[in-house]
Amino acid sequence: MVTAVYPGSFDPATYGHLDIIRRASVSFDRVVVGVLHNSAKSPLFSVEERVNILEKAAKNIPNVVIKPFDGLSVNFAKENGAQVIVRGLRAVTDFEYELQMAQTNRVLAPDIDTVFLTTSLEYAYVSSTIMKEVARFDGDLSKFAPPEIIQVLRMKMQKNR
Ligand code: ADP
Repeated sequence: MVTAVYPGSFDPATYGHLDIIRRASVSFDRVVVGVLHNSAKSPLFSVEERVNILEKAAKNIPNVVIKPFDGLSVNFAKENGAQVIVRGLRAVTDFEYELQMAQTNRVLAPDIDTVFLTTSLEYAYVSSTIMKEVARFDGDLSKFAPPEIIQVLRMKMQKNR
């Protein structure tokens, strides 16, 4: 039984994230999505909101659970009995940071491997940051995330105005 953790900010989740979760759920017996609590990025959504959004969006993928976490991804992996950390790669700009993270995690926990899934081409440009930018100016979000996520994002933007 191979368990993978997929850590990230997911502020909020996009079609890109959901695509990685779906594909990881095919390759691994169990996927634990870790929603990072102490993000230095001062997230738009609270960790509870981000977990809630992902739970709804991934409810039809049977071997996936969503959990909040704090601290190091390798510790989150160990706590969940995971042998693998999954990360998504969109472009070369992701690569340098992701490689450094993977190497650091390798030093911290030599028995845990990082596996990269390359983005599906139709989501290569999708990121939570770009989605929030488009939402701020009331642009079309239909290519970025499912309708229920777009709805909570629009509500949050209105509240913050
Ligand atoms: P972090 O703050 O840890 O980068 P994110 O929520 O931005 O968290 O991303 C989590 C993971 O999902 C990262 O590995 C990122 O590269 C990946 N990811 C984000 N968007 C996409 C996408 N469109 N396609 C593939 N992977 C993606």
